[in-house]
Amino acid sequence: MEPDELTGIVRQAALDLGFSLVGIASARPFGPEADRYDEWIQLGYNAALGYMARNGDKRRDPELILPGVQSVVVVAQNYYTPHEHEEQDGVGKISRYAWGDDYHEVIPPKLERLSEVLRSHVPEVANRYYTDTGPVLEKQWAVRAGIGWQGKNGNIISRVIGSWFFLGVMFTTARLVPDSPVGDFCGTCTACIDACPTDAIVAPSVVDAGKCLSYWTIEAKPDVDIPLPIASNMQGWVFGCDICQDVCPWNRFRKPTAEERFLPRGGETTLSFRAIEDFVQEEFSARFRKSPVKRTKMAGLRRNAAALVKGRPPGAIGANGGSPDESL
Ligand code: SF4
Ligand code: SF4
Repeated sequence: MEPDELTGIVRQAALDLGFSLVGIASARPFGPEADRYDEWIQLGYNAALGYMARNGDKRRDPELILPGVQSVVVVAQNYYTPHEHEEQDGVGKISRYAWGDDYHEVIPPKLERLSEVLRSHVPEVANRYYTDTGPVLEKQWAVRAGIGWQGKNGNIISRVIGSWFFLGVMFTTARLVPDSPVGDFCGTCTACIDACPTDAIVAPSVVDAGKCLSYWTIEAKPDVDIPLPIASNMQGWVFGCDICQDVCPWNRFRKPTAEERFLPRGGETTLSFRAIEDFVQEEFSARFRKSPVKRTKMAGLRRNAAALVKGRPPGAIGANGGSPDESL
């Protein structure tokens, strides 16, 4: 089958599977993109995320992931739902991406089906796909595939749907027609840099994980305390942080997702400190089964709630972030 015909089939199949955007890149090794990533690692901006510093050769060269690779299919899965956080005492905000089911549950089965579609037309083809699960520079592939540009907040931004989406990447030995990258449309805007409460965006598109609330409330091991300069600027976030996306003007183009599994479970976009305190392990496991929130573990959620309460500046009692609870 000719590459252009196969490319059309792959694109349509991705959209039929419910992906919001699809783009294709040639599987050339990265040069300056991988250099910038390596520099980010060398500066220690990956904090304690040691896995990000491993397999740099595979990140740079897709041939080391899939011998004979020719093309990279990048998909975007919109997760925006038209709900907002409740502004009330005694609760912590959950990041929008974690309101519903874990994207690791939603995206890989769709990528498997996309892979089957390719194989049904070209039986000898080999595919490997990832969604935040391997040594893959997903954002850089998304830029190459024309999904969007990397904004100053570090996220990939689409002029069509904003930035509330997950990425999936499929390497294939099939020859497909690549897309062209889009330009950078941040322009002179600095809204995300200005709004970040912990100054984690240290340069355009460069986020120091060690200063980022998302790192501290999701990725940092539960037995590690959140440093006071971070804790005192949590702005009510108990799991993740959406501030630099909330303020991005491109998110005025957000659209509600058709994927119901990303709707807030029980309509909840926050967690009460009382509930966090009262959880027993069984209940926590059941409630957050197939949810991203389980990543921080019950102890991590308690650590976050305690940091929110303790880090709140004097006189702020009653502000969003809740009432102090000594037992937390
Ligand atoms: S997620 Fe929050 S803390 Fe992290 S860079 Fe964005 S605004 Fe800053
Ligand atoms: S807030 Fe402004 S600078 Fe930041 S990513 Fe969005 S457009 Fe770019």
